[in-house]
Amino acid sequence: MKKILVVGGAGYIGSHMVKMLLRQGHHVVTLDNLSTGHRDAVLGGEFIEGDIADRELLDELFNQHRFDGVMHFASFIQVGESVREPAMYYRNNVANTITLLDEMVKANIGHFIFSSTAAIFGEPVGIPIDEQHPRQPINPYGRSKWMIEQVLEDFQRAYGLRSVSLRYFNAAGADPEGELGERHEPETHLIPLVLQAASGRRPDITVFGRDYDTPDGTCIRDYIHIVDLCQAHLLALKYLWDGAPSAQFNLGNGEGFSVQQVIDTARKVTGRNITVVDGPRRDGDPARLVADSHQARQVLGWQPEYASLDTIIEHAWQWEQKSLS
Ligand code: UDP
Repeated sequence: MKKILVVGGAGYIGSHMVKMLLRQGHHVVTLDNLSTGHRDAVLGGEFIEGDIADRELLDELFNQHRFDGVMHFASFIQVGESVREPAMYYRNNVANTITLLDEMVKANIGHFIFSSTAAIFGEPVGIPIDEQHPRQPINPYGRSKWMIEQVLEDFQRAYGLRSVSLRYFNAAGADPEGELGERHEPETHLIPLVLQAASGRRPDITVFGRDYDTPDGTCIRDYIHIVDLCQAHLLALKYLWDGAPSAQFNLGNGEGFSVQQVIDTARKVTGRNITVVDGPRRDGDPARLVADSHQARQVLGWQPEYASLDTIIEHAWQWEQKSLS
């Protein structure tokens, strides 16, 4: 049993992570400022409401607990918002993360798992995208994550802080047991929005562009089940505990699905009518983002369990129905 700090553990990915860590018998402390997270999504362990910008709080926390690892999910994630409010993104995603890392170094905590993103790659020069693909982010959100990846390299060199950066493609789905799911406000992600159109919570779903260079003209993404994503985090921690050096891994299923395919699958899974409206392209959307995750499979031994889009949507649908009741 280890002691893990989960920063941002009240959010979508963090809350699933907390549940999985508790299941594995670990001692979990969640730190979350509840700016976007939900207290009731933290299903156990210790909960502290607070911010990683608060040095005194971190100091106290690290004096009180001897953590074997820190997982960091407390970032802003909306591309469009990052273009409008770059200061907010650089402050939270970069400056506050450096405060956290700084305090970890002071407390001699040597293992860090970082939520990175496919957005660090920008417009892909080739598909699938492996770890060596050029990092040329095209918006402040992607840049904020790429900056921290570089900070982490320097922190390993200078202070011996070892880390794994996990570059998520499209995190989707929900806890198969129905206890947790996606609760972003406002919701911007495709799968929950499509399911809200299926349940009647929204009148329709807008497809952002049908003129992309893809077989059906809509954008292709690599959707990865939240449980598989969390499994990769557990494996990444073990990898660091075994003494391995810092690393970066791309996490996706390696199979792309178009927006239209997601809508068709949601119609099949839910048996509901889903009204589709065609809209213009959304700024900054690459036509295709598909991961090459061979590294994670080979080095971490990662094996996605819920790779099928049907299953991802079934679990998200279970959650949508529960949220309505
Ligand atoms: N999308 C869409 N309508 C929506 C939301 C998203 O057509 O209401 C498209 C979006 O343009 C992208 C894909 O769905 O091609 C996935 O978008 P999402 O925001 O879920 O994730 P992203 O790929 O931006 O991380």
